[in-house]
Formats: sequence, structure tokens, C-alpha cells
Amino acid sequence: KKIQIAIDGPASSGKSTVAKLIAKKFAYIYCDTGAMYRAVTLNAINNQIDLDNEQSIVDLLQHTVIDFKTIPGGQQVFLNGKNVTETIRNEEITNSVSAVAAIKDVRSNLVKKQQKIANNGGIVMDGRDIGTTVLPNAQVKIYLVASVLERAKRRLKDNQNMGINISLDQLEKEISNRDYKDSHRKISPLRMAKDAIKIDTSSMSVEQVVNKISTIIDQ
Ligand code: C5P
Repeated sequence: KKIQIAIDGPASSGKSTVAKLIAKKFAYIYCDTGAMYRAVTLNAINNQIDLDNEQSIVDLLQHTVIDFKTIPGGQQVFLNGKNVTETIRNEEITNSVSAVAAIKDVRSNLVKKQQKIANNGGIVMDGRDIGTTVLPNAQVKIYLVASVLERAKRRLKDNQNMGINISLDQLEKEISNRDYKDSHRKISPLRMAKDAIKIDTSSMSVEQVVNKISTIIDQ
């Protein structure tokens, strides 16, 4: 039977890395909901809309097409037909997205899309509110956590592979800042669902985390 698997957690907790591998292992679809909020943010910036101009961002969303293409081991994101998979990961978007994700009508619009994608099961969806709001009936709910230092170290490594140079100290600040905003917004803030299983990945390898979640799925 093809189930729904919800993977939530704070910024850079390894959700997408793990979710992609789980999707591959079980031949499920992978959906990164953060990519949708990032695409909406990129769209606003491209259209020179101030990020505190909520109404304009919501209006623009009515004329925006966000598409996903599932590729082996991952996902590509298209904004109005343009492949923005890499652009939405940049620092400007990363540090602006929480403000856009706090807008009520942006969330209701994207949550509907996410529920439609997950409707038939066979899905691994990662985000902040999947277990609490998007898929409250998901059969498996995982909440990944790791210390801020560990998450900053992982991002430092990712950045180095992409030739980006930001200090560990700065990364720690950015991660804490985003967690604060995501867990203090009014609409579906970052929370662990009551029936989620928490995994602290601070001293675990990716493989160990994937194995642990696989065992939970197989139960
Ligand atoms: O997961 P990722 O870091 O790409 O998410 C980017 C941002 O999108 C988060 O910091 C959060 O503000 C927002 N987000 C959200 N709800 C989700 C997924 C992401 O609010 N389900």
C-alpha cells in the first residue's frame, strides 16, 4: 500500500537529503514544499515587489505557475515555465523566504497544491507543517532535529562544494534567525506533530537516518 510520509524539521536539518533517499528507496514521489515558498519569493523579487507588501505578493501568486518535475533522486522546480531549481537556493532567497511563508493567503494557496500532489499516496513530502497541517493523516510522520552548530557545519560543507564562502558563525546566525521566524509566525508555525517521531541527527550519518526511517515505514 502506498502511504504518505511527512518529514518536518527546522532549517538545514537534513530533511531534503533524507526525503529524497527515502523516496528513491520506496519508489515514491518526492515533494519539497520549501521549494514552493522559495519560488514565490523569487517571483516577488523578480517583480520588484517589497516583501512586506502582502497583497501584491498574493495577487502575483494568482498569475504564477509553479511546477515540479520528479527526476530520479530529486525534483526540479519551474516558475512560469523557467527552471529555477538552483536559483531558489541562493542566499537572498534563503534569507527572505520566511517573511513570504508567513503570509496567510500564500500558505493556503500552496497547502492546497501540496494536498493535491499527495492525494494518491506514494509520497514523501518535506517541510515545516506537513505533519501538523498539510497531511495531518499521514501514516508516517518524522521530525528531524540537529544542533545549530551541526546544521551550520553541514551548510558550510554544501556551500564549499558550490564555491560559496560564508563563515560558520554567519551560517549559525542565519539558521537560528530562520528557525525563530518560522516557529513564531501566526499561521501554522514550525511545530512537531503530536504523533511524529523525533530523530536527532546531530551525531548520525545520512545512511543511519535513512535506515531508521525505513524501519519505521516498514513497521
Ligand atoms: O525547507 P526550506 O529551507 O527550503 O524552506 C524554506 C522556507 O520555506 C522555510 O524557512 C519556511 O519559511 C518556508 N516553509 C514553510 N512551510 C513549509 C516549507 C517551507 O513555511 N512546509
